[in-house]
Amino acid sequence: MGRATWMGLLTLGALLLICVTFTTKAATAEISWQDNTTSLTDFPMSYFVDTSENMPFTEVTQQTFIDSSNRVSLGTAAIKTWAKIPLVNTSDNPQTLYLHHPYAYHNRQVGLYETVDGLETQRRILDLDDPSTYGWLYGGAAVFEVTLAPLQKKTLYVESVSFSHQWFSIDLYNKEQSQRALLGSFTDIAVMVGMLLALIIYNLLLFMYSRQRDNLFYACYLISGGIWIALSYGLVAEVFAFYGSASLYWHLTLMTMPIFLILFMMDIFETRQHYRFEHYALVFVLALLVAEFCYGVVDIVGALRYSSSLAALMMLTTLSVTISLVIKRHPIAKYFLLGHCLFVGFSGLAVMFYKGRAEFSYLSSHGVGVGIMLEALVLALIIAYRIRLLEEIKASQEELKYQAATDSLTHLFNRRHFHKEAQRIFMQASVTQQPMAVIICDIDLFKRVNDKYGHLMGDQVIIDIATTLKQHARKCDIVARYGGEEFIMLLHDVSLAEAHQCAERIRSAVAELSFMAETQEVFTVTLSLGVAAVDFAHPLEHAIKLADDALYRAKHQGRNNVQSSEINLLEIQEGIN
Ligand code: GH3
Ligand code: MG
Ligand code: MG
Repeated sequence: MGRATWMGLLTLGALLLICVTFTTKAATAEISWQDNTTSLTDFPMSYFVDTSENMPFTEVTQQTFIDSSNRVSLGTAAIKTWAKIPLVNTSDNPQTLYLHHPYAYHNRQVGLYETVDGLETQRRILDLDDPSTYGWLYGGAAVFEVTLAPLQKKTLYVESVSFSHQWFSIDLYNKEQSQRALLGSFTDIAVMVGMLLALIIYNLLLFMYSRQRDNLFYACYLISGGIWIALSYGLVAEVFAFYGSASLYWHLTLMTMPIFLILFMMDIFETRQHYRFEHYALVFVLALLVAEFCYGVVDIVGALRYSSSLAALMMLTTLSVTISLVIKRHPIAKYFLLGHCLFVGFSGLAVMFYKGRAEFSYLSSHGVGVGIMLEALVLALIIAYRIRLLEEIKASQEELKYQAATDSLTHLFNRRHFHKEAQRIFMQASVTQQPMAVIICDIDLFKRVNDKYGHLMGDQVIIDIATTLKQHARKCDIVARYGGEEFIMLLHDVSLAEAHQCAERIRSAVAELSFMAETQEVFTVTLSLGVAAVDFAHPLEHAIKLADDALYRAKHQGRNNVQSSEINLLEIQEGIN
């Protein structure tokens, strides 16, 4: 015999073996329920997909059912699926058991048909859009009571009609276990949603404080994720008794979630400005997602059919973009990659599950939730890192601003900043006509100080006089170094006489300062000051010129004295006369 024949025989043998196992399995698939059975949450059953979606029940019972476990996920091509569970009461007592269909909330319809000896004995149909049938609905789960006479055999047919993706599980309980199963079933989802809620509030507060768009996008991403998790894992059905077609539109959050994630990525990585190629890749997927969202607004059931394929494309793109940014050494990209891998890993598993290509397990059926939660935690770290980065940038900008506005020796404002700030205050005060005054002062015979005691000593004198000026100014006044050893003050809400008094106090305070030279010689310096009132009929420069004139007179009158503007005094006198 040739090699091909051997191969053919082997294949045939293997197929026969599979068939034998198949039939043995089918034969042993009868579930026994006894006095002491409390719950069956892991048992073999079989299913049949009615692709016509309207096959009469009598015909359904004639179909070949495929062996499976009590949890199945079949994708979008199994809208109407029948599960078959042959039951036998092996005890001499009647039995009451409860059939649970825990994910009924995401179905359009769930029905239970009972047959004895091939004849239908009872039919119960829960229509999720018909409240009159809600008697079998507990939270989001469908629960049907089934009775078995002593030694009776019954076959249960459970009909699941989904909106888009078909996945369900069936559990059997006695009364007590049934009640327990209904009680504690949503704590994990509540914890997930609670965590997301905390992160949402945190990010919204951050947005209100910092006005950073990334916090807003991230919060919106989490809001979408939180709503979708609460909805599709049954928390919304449990708490708000919200299911059927009415809840379908909320699945639009499945599209807004990746939309906001992509916007968040574009924002934190600044792809538009720095990474053109990656940016266009993200824009492309974003456009598809927005298109799917718009399609979903018109026809949500139609749009949901493409959701898992689009999710796979989106994850592939975002992951590739992130890897590319890591290679290009973007500082945040590696942290993002860590979080995103968690999201893509678990959501990928979920996509496989919804498409009917992964086993029904807790992780596969809750993949999106687990993925979002883990990613959210890592991304929260990125947000904290970004805040630190932004604060550092802000601090260095403020430092630069401060340096540009002040004089490094005295830390008073410099001449340029004085003009800017004085002009602003002048404009404000001109509205309320609040009196203001300018004082200009100059250290007397300062050249001599430099010549006699050295430049460093001269600097010290300038610093101490600047400090004295600051001590005599109020918070609302501006003090600036106007030139080498010349200072200027703009006093707020003072008359010429009050400003003159203030200048006089400064003059005597400076005269009282004493300095010690390197030679241990103690010396003093004096200050000449000129004062002028601000006249709002003229520009501010006019008052500065008058104060400068007054200072010139003070110098001429022997220094160490205060002179007020003559013109001001004349104006005042004219006012009195
Ligand atoms: P007057 O009473 O007429 O003002 O006499 P004066 O000697 O003070 O004359 P003037 O205002 O012309 O001299 C200013 C001097 O101040 C000249 C310059 O060497 C000195 N000076 C300017 N800036 C600084 C500084 O930052 N440090 C030191 N040590 N000296 C400075
Ligand atoms: Mg001078
Ligand atoms: Mg001088």
